[in-house]
Amino acid sequence: MSSSAGSPLPVRIAAGQYALLPEIARTRREENLRFLRMIQSVPSERFDRVALPIAQEQTERIDCTLCANCCRSVQPGVLPEELPVLARCAHMEVTSFSRQWVKKEAGTGIAYLHQLPCLFLQENRCSIYNDRPLSCRDYPHLQHPGLKFRLRSLISQYSVCPIVFNTLEALKEAFGFSATASPNEEKK
Ligand code: SF4
Ligand code: SF4
Repeated sequence: MSSSAGSPLPVRIAAGQYALLPEIARTRREENLRFLRMIQSVPSERFDRVALPIAQEQTERIDCTLCANCCRSVQPGVLPEELPVLARCAHMEVTSFSRQWVKKEAGTGIAYLHQLPCLFLQENRCSIYNDRPLSCRDYPHLQHPGLKFRLRSLISQYSVCPIVFNTLEALKEAFGFSATASPNEEKK
């Protein structure tokens, strides 16, 4: 694995390489933060015009059944109205299900499934696919306008999700970001 300063671009992660994501993310942490800083000067609407089609294209290229990283490492949010459905899928009463499988974020009170890997993951597939929570359907949240403002949280998923990884690398390319340029050169 080369260092971030020497990493060639563009880079895409392919099926069979997903285990490399955490290490690559570590080596590119500073690089990704420099990209984030560079993009601050790009108007949000212009960023979306470029970024949303790229995200769509990268999403279509990945087969999630060969990955399931998010189901192993991201605790999905659960809406109150989703609890009865999830409880039914687990063949449990809502109260028992909530007690065993749901926690609430301190401060926000947002409920989430705390078990990792997710209790509904079987092999690499969601066993409740048609009933999965909205937050699972939406992940990795690339399809909504205002992507620029979510870039920091997306970078946190760079080590998890191949779609995020490939989208971010494609964005670096599209916006002419150089992994080797000094911060001063990027300001020019
Ligand atoms: S509910 Fe399904 S899609 Fe959501 S984390 Fe669990 S296994 Fe994955
Ligand atoms: S959304 Fe991302 S992390 Fe989740 S299964 Fe698909 S490619 Fe993997």
